[in-house]
Amino acid sequence: MAKNHRAATDVNGRPELPIVEDDGFSAEMLFRQGYSYTYDDLIFHPGFINFATDAVDLSTHLTRNIQLRTPCVSSPMDTVTEAAMAAAMATVGGIGFIHYNNQPQVQAALVKKAKSQRVAFMPDPVCLRPSDPISHIDLLKETRGFSSVLVTEDGKVGSKLLGVVTSRDTDFVVDRSTELCEVMSRDIISAPAGASLEEASRVLIESKKSLLPLVTDTGELTELLCRTDLKSHRQNPDSGFPSLGADGKFLVGAAVGTRESDQIRLQLLVDAGVNVVILDSSQGDSIYQRKMIEYVKKVHPELDVIAGNVVTAYQARNLIEAGADALRVGMGSGSICTTQEVCAVGRGQGTAVYKTAAVGNAMGVPIIADGGIANSGHVVKALSLGASTVMMGSFLAGTDEAPGEFFIQDGLRLKKYRGMGSLEAMAKGSDARYLGDKSRLKIAQGVSGSVAAKGSVLRLIPYTLHAVKQGFQDLGTPSISAAHDALVAGSIRLEVRTGAAQKEGGVHDLVSYEKRRF
Ligand code: NAD
Ligand code: IMP
Repeated sequence: MAKNHRAATDVNGRPELPIVEDDGFSAEMLFRQGYSYTYDDLIFHPGFINFATDAVDLSTHLTRNIQLRTPCVSSPMDTVTEAAMAAAMATVGGIGFIHYNNQPQVQAALVKKAKSQRVAFMPDPVCLRPSDPISHIDLLKETRGFSSVLVTEDGKVGSKLLGVVTSRDTDFVVDRSTELCEVMSRDIISAPAGASLEEASRVLIESKKSLLPLVTDTGELTELLCRTDLKSHRQNPDSGFPSLGADGKFLVGAAVGTRESDQIRLQLLVDAGVNVVILDSSQGDSIYQRKMIEYVKKVHPELDVIAGNVVTAYQARNLIEAGADALRVGMGSGSICTTQEVCAVGRGQGTAVYKTAAVGNAMGVPIIADGGIANSGHVVKALSLGASTVMMGSFLAGTDEAPGEFFIQDGLRLKKYRGMGSLEAMAKGSDARYLGDKSRLKIAQGVSGSVAAKGSVLRLIPYTLHAVKQGFQDLGTPSISAAHDALVAGSIRLEVRTGAAQKEGGVHDLVSYEKRRF
């Protein structure tokens, strides 16, 4: 005869079933087992959905004092973030960090430029002088792919606009040494400097021209609006509110080092209006960072400083106690990184984010999960493991806004992407940063390579964020802070995927397929 068991009940009066309560692991249990887990090793259990995807709130803290609407930041790398990337990241509600593999004055000028760049407008269109020959345009066509240029008095933006040359002015001219002043159209339709995108678009569309220069009252060129750029901008999803500072301009960050010479760099960046700085190092738990944090806090108390990189709870506490306003987390996780191979230090990024965020969140300091983001699922994992933002290198490197030109290789459209610890970047850096310091032996901790073209950040990030919101909905957590609370409470459940489970989790057993992100 069956025994009459009376099951215990839960708070809702339902019988408690251990198999239900014990399904999966809390993060606290999982990360105590001595393994270094990457994002791909981990998989989250779905939760209960009682809200719509669009209701998911991804607003977050970059640092103690800076809030963002979008949890994405671009890495301070010379193939990722210069002015166009920083402006685009701010446009979509995130932030970009200008790299410092350059002279301090150049970096400060990039910060200034990014802060005042405007969506769809070109702040530094190629200009030529009236005495330049048509062959200069032929060269531009060959190297940059366009054949319409503005002609200004001294061949630069900021000087008097004299004419416009398009392919129709030069197509049939046999003598390519003919000067531009002989073929350019002087009948220019322009808009006033500072005109809004709405106003300028209206003038451009009505004019039926391909270029609309913006000029001051006295005729100096300030910006350009191109028909093709306007068309592609209109196809982008709505970016929402941009990230703006108290000055009403884009929020822009920048990287600095920890040498004495970086104090001068820092001053130039502050003068240029930088909103936050990041101390850029693979191993941030050092006397050098402590001293630099102390220096920044003493000289620029209003400026938030991000320290790192760190991967352990111990390192995180040290830098927070030293005064860091956020921590950058990741060592050896970057797509171009050879640090774990060369130096035998680092950590799987899933574990690094969880362990450092446990300390950071308890001490009120946000975590930036840096490196290893290859898809929206990785963003969901980083944020659900305690990070407040994700920093991306390769994910953004092939976009229109990344520095460098596209090139074709084996039929693919590519852009260069390289580690800041690669020999190539270091060679440029020691010349540009330390004025030709060739005395140190250089050991590479990164590689140079290329990534596929990905279109505009203004399209890539909104689509990625929508996928991230779907992930949060599946998890049953309507915001980043709700996910952090659920992580601590143990109600987010996760597991490690075996090799076979990872294979099953990807596309498999097809003869061929096309993988399109959106
Ligand atoms: P770094 O400037 O921190 O270190 C270079 C060397 O200079 C180190 O030996 C450091 O100890 C030393 N140094 C720094 N400040 C000093 C001071 N004031 N006095 C004396 N010595 C000092 O840069 P890094 O760690 O070599 O990284 C270079 C670049 O590569 C960075 O952009 C970094 O983000 C990137 N990187 C990242 C990772 C990663 O896993 N996240 C790994 C390797 C490289
Ligand atoms: P990704 O997004 O996976 O491409 O990783 C980008 C991150 O890699 C950066 O934000 C840095 O933290 C890190 N990184 C940059 N350059 C190097 C390098 O040369 N070696 C190792 N890591 C690097």
